Amino acid sequence: MSRIKESLRRNISNIPGWRTNRKILVIESDDWGAVRIKDKVAYEALKDKGLNVGRIHYDSVESMESNRDMEMLFDLLQGFKDKNGKHPVFTPMCIMGNPDFEKIKVSDYQEYFFQPLHETLEEFPQSDRVLDLWRQGFNQNIFVPEIHGREHINVRRYMKILQSHKGKEGLRYALEHHSVGPSGYNGINYPNYLGALHPEAKDEIPELHQYVLEGGKLFHKYMGYYPRVFIAPNAEEPKELESSLKQIGVQYLTRSKKRVYPLGDGVFAKEWNFIGKKNEYDQVIINRNAFFEPVCFGEQEHITDWVDSCLKEIEIAFRWRKPAVISSHRVNYVGSIRPENREKGLTELKHLLTAVLKKWPDVEFMSSFELGKTIRKEK
Ligand SMILES: [Zn+2]
Repeated sequence: MSRIKESLRRNISNIPGWRTNRKILVIESDDWGAVRIKDKVAYEALKDKGLNVGRIHYDSVESMESNRDMEMLFDLLQGFKDKNGKHPVFTPMCIMGNPDFEKIKVSDYQEYFFQPLHETLEEFPQSDRVLDLWRQGFNQNIFVPEIHGREHINVRRYMKILQSHKGKEGLRYALEHHSVGPSGYNGINYPNYLGALHPEAKDEIPELHQYVLEGGKLFHKYMGYYPRVFIAPNAEEPKELESSLKQIGVQYLTRSKKRVYPLGDGVFAKEWNFIGKKNEYDQVIINRNAFFEPVCFGEQEHITDWVDSCLKEIEIAFRWRKPAVISSHRVNYVGSIRPENREKGLTELKHLLTAVLKKWPDVEFMSSFELGKTIRKEK
């Protein structure tokens, strides 16, 4: 797309929906709690085996967040304040567990087993305080967890690949190294198995409903409150799940403006979303309108200055009297596999927040939940 066309598109897409004169800034960060690549040893092993792990940042530098990752992020956030004395707030979209790799292997890949997050964390000694830190971040209102799903993989599709895909040997090898994510193996591509709540078949939907309910229960166990905000992992969820999400407490849905969602059995429907729109369950829609993925390589490599490009998106949002809702995944802030990755993410975030406060001294930092409540109150 040409630059003018792209700028026009960004402006127009900010026009519909709820408006405010306040300059609200929200940072949503997906994938906290999800296992991706176990560690550096696993990464090297997967690479040598011929798994596709060098293609995008998620597959080469992203591991479980460590205590240190979280403490460094918290320190940075606490170094900034808005006009009301509030720190910038991350809204992490959290995953409640992971595949139980060992049990799946013992079943000879015939059966799927889920492992709740507190058990996964036992495998990561440097992450032993992660759940405490989630709660601490919540209490300090700098890191306010919401829900992204029970696990970040689609159970049926993942099992099908492990059992019968022609590249199954590769994904089994990744499983043995307690890792997920690679999109292919020695030139053989896998179907997308990271869209946990994105069904292939209609009869899969009741299972997804169960996963949502179990995810909600675990969330409450870990956090002491039910999740209020949800964004689907990787690919859109079917409409039926809105009622399951309502059951676990979700009142706000972060969605893309144009949502193409599955009806099952290869049929899709389309809906247009704008901020402040309500569905039949009184759940309010939130849209992301800015992106900050500074460690990104692969598909978004063309963006070289993420601070500048994100500032422009925030400017467009404020011009149309919209809150700026920034997407910034966990991958930018983790450093177990490569510390330079975390260094880069944090340095860029520092530059971004410094520039934001300079350019808009009246900016207000909020969590997604606070934004949702504000929309509801002012609507
Ligand atoms: Zn995700």
